[in-house]
Amino acid sequence: MTEHKARKRFGQNFLQDTRIISDIVNAVRPQADDVVIEIGPGLGAITQPLTRKLNRLHVCEIDRDIIQFLKKQDFADKLTIHEGDVLKFDFRQIVGRKKIVGNLPYNISTPLLFKLSEVADEVIDMHFMLQKEVVERMVAAPKTNDYGRLSVMLQYYFDMGNLIDVPPESFTPAPKVDSAVVRMIPVAGRIGVAENFQHFSDLVRDAFQQRRKTIRNNLKNIASDDDLQAVSILPQQRPEEIAPELFVKLSNYLINKRE
Ligand code: SAM
Repeated sequence: MTEHKARKRFGQNFLQDTRIISDIVNAVRPQADDVVIEIGPGLGAITQPLTRKLNRLHVCEIDRDIIQFLKKQDFADKLTIHEGDVLKFDFRQIVGRKKIVGNLPYNISTPLLFKLSEVADEVIDMHFMLQKEVVERMVAAPKTNDYGRLSVMLQYYFDMGNLIDVPPESFTPAPKVDSAVVRMIPVAGRIGVAENFQHFSDLVRDAFQQRRKTIRNNLKNIASDDDLQAVSILPQQRPEEIAPELFVKLSNYLINKRE
């Protein structure tokens, strides 16, 4: 559909690099009976090669013109099309452990990643094209510039790795930023289990409120120096020096102290 005009508001940058497309499909390793969901199929760059390997592919797409286009393709009979905003999509309605894949619209990637975390227990793996800078923040280790709230919250749920770097020329239109493909595999409990997830999540948000300030300062309303030291955090440390598991420990410590 060369006549389709890419819509900026839907983050439409279509993959055109056949080598990158086959690298993504190879990374996903689809088996015929797998339950696979593609977010934002667009004009089918990844959709078509996936349907060659799969009996069925669920796709979630917001753009009605694109849906009309997809319905006319020769692989349409393999598709179950879910029309609408993926941020409102109920992933649990699709029964079975899922593989999720997508060249994501970059403008919704952070809320989408948080939403997907909530269904991690039903996920086998996820492969996403994202802004490279976002992938670097996701996989960042403590004591690096990229380490922050996104790293801690996603590392709570997933093992992640940057698989493929993708330059702007691999898309049309070319985005202004570099991209990368990340693999995310759920790892329940690896860094501990937060007894009260909302508390843990709020704590991590507050801890990184001001990166340059000490953890003592950022958490002054919820944790004393003694609380921090009880889980081996030094009050004068900066939030980026603190490993994900210590945030879980601190949250659980504070919850149990409160009760
Ligand atoms: N997969 C195609 C490719 O690689 O060429 C298209 C990728 S393009 C970066 C993002 C796709 O997500 C577009 O098809 C766009 O219409 C769709 N999209 C954008 N926002 C969406 C949303 N909120 N829910 C579902 N799909 C969305």
